[in-house]
Amino acid sequence: MTNVFLGLGGNLGDRRELMRSAVAEIRQVVDDVRVSSLYESAAWGVTDQPAFLNAVVRGRTSLNPLDLLDAVQSIENELGRVREQRWGPRLIDIDILLYGAEVIDEPRLQVPHPYMTQRGFVLRPLADLAAGLTLPDGSLVGELLTTVNQSDLRRVEGPDWAD
Ligand code: AMP
Repeated sequence: MTNVFLGLGGNLGDRRELMRSAVAEIRQVVDDVRVSSLYESAAWGVTDQPAFLNAVVRGRTSLNPLDLLDAVQSIENELGRVREQRWGPRLIDIDILLYGAEVIDEPRLQVPHPYMTQRGFVLRPLADLAAGLTLPDGSLVGELLTTVNQSDLRRVEGPDWAD
């Protein structure tokens, strides 16, 4: 079993319900799931779109990295099928942030997720679950958090949002 951290985000449709459904689906393939608080962040880049909800999920899995990627992509697709008719393609995004201490650089999968150390909406919920965690390059989650902008980030609900 390997400790994994997944990043969840979505800014369309019933965001909270989609995030809850995603966690329920993740529980099917990841054991001992724990979730961060729920955060809202202003849309990055293109600003005339709805704000995102973001959270991080931690757990343990026996799936290898690419099988885990397949699993989270099927969850994205499954939840996306509902939305395809009404909302368009990107209702929920699930990223593999960390897979144990592994560094993976394959065409389909880069872990740690390449942008995670620059994004407050990833580091803040990650720090809820594992502020003392060291990334494969030796950096500490709690310290990385002090280097990113969190001004557009707001905690909207405690970790029981996904219960
Ligand atoms: P996105 O549009 O942001 O959901 O990106 C999806 C694409 O990113 C997929 O084609 C994945 O193969 C690729 N990818 C690379 N690294 C990761 C990762 N750590 N977690 C999730 N998807 C990844």
